[in-house]
Amino acid sequence: MSVEYNCILIRFGEIFLKGHNRKFFEDLLICNIKSALKPLKYTFLRSQGRYYVEDAKEETSEIVSRLTRVFGIHSVSPAVKVRTDEEELFKTAIAMSPMTGKFRVTVKRADKRLPFTSAEMAGKIGGALLKASGGKLKVDLFDYDFELNVDIRDNGYSYLFYDKIPGAGGLPVGCSGSGMLLLSGGIDSPVAGWLMAKRGVRLNAIHFHSFPYTSELALQKVKDLAARLSGYTGGVKLFVVPFTEIQYAIHEKCPESFMITIMRRFMMRIAERIARREECGAIITGESLGQVASQTMQSMNVTNSVVTLPVFRPLIGFDKEEIIDISQKIDTFDISIRPYEDCCTVFLPKNPVIRPKIGEAVEYENRLDVDALIEDAVQRTTEEFITSK
Ligand code: ATP
Ligand code: MG
Repeated sequence: MSVEYNCILIRFGEIFLKGHNRKFFEDLLICNIKSALKPLKYTFLRSQGRYYVEDAKEETSEIVSRLTRVFGIHSVSPAVKVRTDEEELFKTAIAMSPMTGKFRVTVKRADKRLPFTSAEMAGKIGGALLKASGGKLKVDLFDYDFELNVDIRDNGYSYLFYDKIPGAGGLPVGCSGSGMLLLSGGIDSPVAGWLMAKRGVRLNAIHFHSFPYTSELALQKVKDLAARLSGYTGGVKLFVVPFTEIQYAIHEKCPESFMITIMRRFMMRIAERIARREECGAIITGESLGQVASQTMQSMNVTNSVVTLPVFRPLIGFDKEEIIDISQKIDTFDISIRPYEDCCTVFLPKNPVIRPKIGEAVEYENRLDVDALIEDAVQRTTEEFITSK
């Protein structure tokens, strides 16, 4: 291709743009696009249900990679923008074309005042390509190697492009409110957060840290995961809760088999306290039914029973392999498999209870000063706004 892309065309999902919420969704989407492109310099245009990023100084591939992480975008196309003038269109089509193989030209004409139909213009551009190729190009409307798309807009300009690169889909982050993600250093919780962000949830994250049993590197891993998620959400507020004292207390006073169950109940209570303060409408975890002993229905019932906010577990029906596939796609896998342990492995019981009963958990917790332990941990919680840059 002997011509540079000078524009990127953005298409957004249709479904959520119907009805009276349209303006709310669009404003949010535009705001999220601009945040994802910060601090790049470019011109942003909106016209007839499309957005355009033009005059960017940055590489097209960098902009495309940022845009394909913005939820609510259906697809993007790097394009060449030219004046709507026959000679310009022919010249650009020829400069863009590989000049060999089978092709078709598809023209869409938003400007109905023009003195030609879309099919006529497609025929003319196709003719110009055939002539310029000296017989090496062939038109085939069905079995083609490439399709040149030409969008003729009503502002006097046309956009020529090949690829429709799929966007992240979903809904603009923020349109569904905020959630509090329990973020460990593992594979599952970042994927759970990503799935909820895809449905428009702005993410806060909370991590329980067992210093000195878990290292600074384990904490760094969590921050790096939060930074990866930020690439999709425009930023994640991360809360780090010192958890060692609570673990000591449980370890000392409660049966070993209930260690994980009671730890989880503390995590949930603390997460809910901070979630309410931050105006989050839900708690999010990376649990998947049956994956480990603490992820049975009974265990989840016992941990749920200490909170009243809804608990979203988007991975509940996923197999590990499916979760790993997503984590690779969203680039969190490599960080998640760094070998630093998180707090759950520190006081790991040999035989955790698989079907705990709420009554038992309550009975053991009566041996602890639950409120004071929580109060102390919340007081010493630190917070940091993490971005992807
Ligand atoms: P993950 O891969 O997300 O660590 P897991 O398969 O290791 O999950 P568990 O260790 O049972 O499963 O944890 C279940 C969920 O509890 C996690 O997905 C996460 O949401 C939450 N969680 C566990 N440990 C922590 C922690 N130290 N800080 C915050 N959340 C945690
Ligand atoms: Mg884990």
